[in-house]
Amino acid sequence: MALDDHIERVIFTEQQISERVSELGSEITRDCIGTPTVVVGVATGAILFLADIVRNIPLPITVEIIRVESYGSGTVSNGHPTISSDLKTDVQGCHVMLVEDIVDTGSTMSCLIEYMKSKGASSVSVCTLLDKPARRKVHFKPVGEKGKYYCGFECPDEFVVGYGMDYAEVYRNLPYVGVLKPEIYKR
Ligand code: 5GP
Ligand code: MG
Ligand code: MG
Repeated sequence: MALDDHIERVIFTEQQISERVSELGSEITRDCIGTPTVVVGVATGAILFLADIVRNIPLPITVEIIRVESYGSGTVSNGHPTISSDLKTDVQGCHVMLVEDIVDTGSTMSCLIEYMKSKGASSVSVCTLLDKPARRKVHFKPVGEKGKYYCGFECPDEFVVGYGMDYAEVYRNLPYVGVLKPEIYKR
């Protein structure tokens, strides 16, 4: 079965995503000009979004990756994110912008914001492609004067895949965001 045939419904098309990413990039560029900024993508889900958003920020930023796990292979967070691969650079005194695929319960972002504060970041922003406000349990806040919350789209309360997001480590390479056919989850 071809990859597209696994998808029941497209929620955000490649074009909608690309237009929104370019708008977010312009906004972030205006906000970060003149500020030493470390853009930190949360692996693995944010890698496609990270690659696209940083190309829309024409400033001398640092691009980093951190790996956080809370899901295993299912569709429900276990609520205890752990950092399984750390930053390579020092963020002391820098503005950190966390780049995430989707904010769900909020526990991953809350954990990473606290971590960046503990590493001496002067401010922390969050930039997420999607947000599922219906499922929020932990209400995090950006940090410092430069700290802001950037969000691409509000997402319906469904388990989505594509544009970096997986189900059991598959579907990350879809260029759009969609919902899988129900029979796929039952396998
Ligand atoms: P949170 O800590 O906010 O509950 O969850 C954050 C992480 O859970 C996201 O970075 C993402 O990796 C995963 N996640 C949450 N909702 C979805 C979803 O609908 N689809 C996929 N593939 N991952 C999700
Ligand atoms: Mg993620
Ligand atoms: Mg996942």
